[in-house]
Amino acid sequence: MEEWRRILAASVVKPKDLAKHLGVDPEEIEAVVGDYPMRITPTVMAMMKEKGDAIWKQVVPDQAETEDVDAEDDPLEEDLMSPVPHLVHRYPDRVLLMVTNQCPIYCRFCTRKRLVGKPGFLKKGELDRAIAYLKEHTEVRDVILSGGDPLLLPDHLLERILKALRTIPHLELIRIGSRVPGSLPQRITPKLCEIIKKYHPIYMNLHFNHPDELTPEVKAACGMLADAGVPLGAQTVLLKGVNDDPDVMTRLVHQLLLARVKPYYLYQADLTKGTNHFRTTVETGLNIIRALQGHTSGMAVPHFVIDAPGGGGKIPLLPADYLMHLDEDVAVLKNYENKTYHYPQPPKSNGRELPMVGTHSALTACGDGGKGGLNDL
Ligand SMILES: *Cc1c(COP(=O)(O)O)cnc(C)c1O
Repeated sequence: MEEWRRILAASVVKPKDLAKHLGVDPEEIEAVVGDYPMRITPTVMAMMKEKGDAIWKQVVPDQAETEDVDAEDDPLEEDLMSPVPHLVHRYPDRVLLMVTNQCPIYCRFCTRKRLVGKPGFLKKGELDRAIAYLKEHTEVRDVILSGGDPLLLPDHLLERILKALRTIPHLELIRIGSRVPGSLPQRITPKLCEIIKKYHPIYMNLHFNHPDELTPEVKAACGMLADAGVPLGAQTVLLKGVNDDPDVMTRLVHQLLLARVKPYYLYQADLTKGTNHFRTTVETGLNIIRALQGHTSGMAVPHFVIDAPGGGGKIPLLPADYLMHLDEDVAVLKNYENKTYHYPQPPKSNGRELPMVGTHSALTACGDGGKGGLNDL
């Protein structure tokens, strides 16, 4: 058996085994794992320093999960947008392909809580149907392998899927969404990297929520993928008591860049049944973006998005005050220090865009330290 499989098999899956480590009451969470499975890899067990910390909250079952009875199982209506099994086609030019329901760890806030934990990988017949659909749909240029966690597939099954996808002439990008590098870094082997290299361009979006997840061995796994030519992004879920704080989030995005991972999305938590105790206000996310933008490397700032309930897709949000006013003459802007600046629009003539002539005073600072604004116009 490969080493990573032995390590995965040594994960904690039973409440009574967790009790030994950190003094949980196994009775309390026995009922929860009946509905929603638990798995915590040795790597993640070692990240937990005390009961109730930011790692603990993400992976240790909580009674609140089974008390959340009124919420919906599938608020994003993914099941309704599935033309063939395991494929979600919500946007015009890209699709999600769910290749397994297994994950290295079962996040307590998972959007696909209704599905995860069941055994098995995408079967040959199911893959054939997905490939047939994609061959017919020439508008699809981007396939995202998701699940579950695609990197839990054995090498030969992952390669079978990549190879089949690369028979589709109009398919440009393959993306893989994974929490494996941050929770089972031993799975990132030289052999896996060799397989991936053969099917470029492959992008990966890795799931990270807290700076303590970026241990030296996790960073090394990310480095191997980056060395294999995989551009790495991070997806982070905004979680109450875990990362709903500008200082924690600043440390996280800095650690990600050190691991050669570019923060991509910061998600407002979904309304999925069993996860609502993790939700924060929308302002919490906007304040985090405000704390990052301009104050640190632009590379460190993710897009803050809400995946709209009812299947509307991801909608980006920015603090409203960057663009204070916009008309045909001027944009009034506020920077990260709350200072106001005026950007004049290009001159118009009979509604036609003309080449710019004359002065090029593109950015005109008010220099009033933020006291000005609309009243000065
Ligand atoms: C997030 C998502 C995508 C990819 O969206 P990007 O904004 O391109 O990263 C595609 N399909 C579904 C169903 C998604 O939820």
